Amino acid sequence: MSSEVNLESGVMYIVATPIGNIEDISSRALSVLSSVDYIFAEDTRRTAKLLHQYSIKAPMQSLHDHNESDRIDDVIALLESGNNLALVSDAGTPLISDPGYKLVKALHQHNLKVVPIPGASALISALSVAGIATDKFSFEGFLPAKLHARQSVLNDYKSGLLGDRTLVFYESTHRIISSLTDMLEILGEEQEITIARELTKTYETLYVGTLKDVFTIISSDSNHQKGEFVIVLSGKSYVTDSNADKNDISVQSRELLIKLLTELTVKQAVSLAVKITGEKKKKLYSAALKIDSNKGFE
Ligand code: SAM
Repeated sequence: MSSEVNLESGVMYIVATPIGNIEDISSRALSVLSSVDYIFAEDTRRTAKLLHQYSIKAPMQSLHDHNESDRIDDVIALLESGNNLALVSDAGTPLISDPGYKLVKALHQHNLKVVPIPGASALISALSVAGIATDKFSFEGFLPAKLHARQSVLNDYKSGLLGDRTLVFYESTHRIISSLTDMLEILGEEQEITIARELTKTYETLYVGTLKDVFTIISSDSNHQKGEFVIVLSGKSYVTDSNADKNDISVQSRELLIKLLTELTVKQAVSLAVKITGEKKKKLYSAALKIDSNKGFE
């Protein structure tokens, strides 16, 4: 049970909710949710369950990716007439790979007050247990769904575009194997990695070690591929590339092969790539075979 409090009027509260364990919500968050005039929720049915658990009754309206822009004027009108509002997403902190950014930007443009009510976020929870440097990190959200775009992004990390900071990704059950396969190919077997699965839930699991070892475990049993994932990559290994395969080709040659393989056979692509890049045929052939065998994961 949470108690109502007197809130300053005309304020939008951005309220973090649990990422799994329903107890991971602050008493301040519960007081705010009990006291606002309306709660804007990404999925009203899901939030209804949370509110029910804490006996909170508040009118709800939906605000998700598909209606966010249309909702902005209504939200501004409600705030300007003195209502207090809360924004919640399905899980964790709103706006972190979740809707709300356009709305919050519009509220600032109208000089309306926005107040954070901090709490759970999968990103920070994963970093807190990863055992990988957190002094500098970059949150990269979800990797692209398409194979070539994903490989191109990973090649950019490898070529050091982000320096030596830790990288954090969100990943879903559908793409965990494809993403790890690409990471293995591009960043190498010795890349230091931690994967946090199902944080705060019954099957919470941490996979810590080299990319090769973690991939071996996760790919060995479909149960390891179920649920929600945060992938944390150490910046040191992908920049120093200490374990670079001696058959490795340059980032540019790899990009070229990826493009050629969308139109040509492995043999044709390699023959053309040898002429364009001047790299050894054997190296290009080995890389082309790997890229080609990964097409099935797209
Ligand atoms: N706003 C959320 C936050 O603050 O973490 C993130 C929402 S995003 C749409 C959902 C993704 O977050 C999932 O696909 C997964 O990568 C990650 N995630 C959310 N809950 C998680 C959990 N309990 N364990 C691991 N990852 C989780």
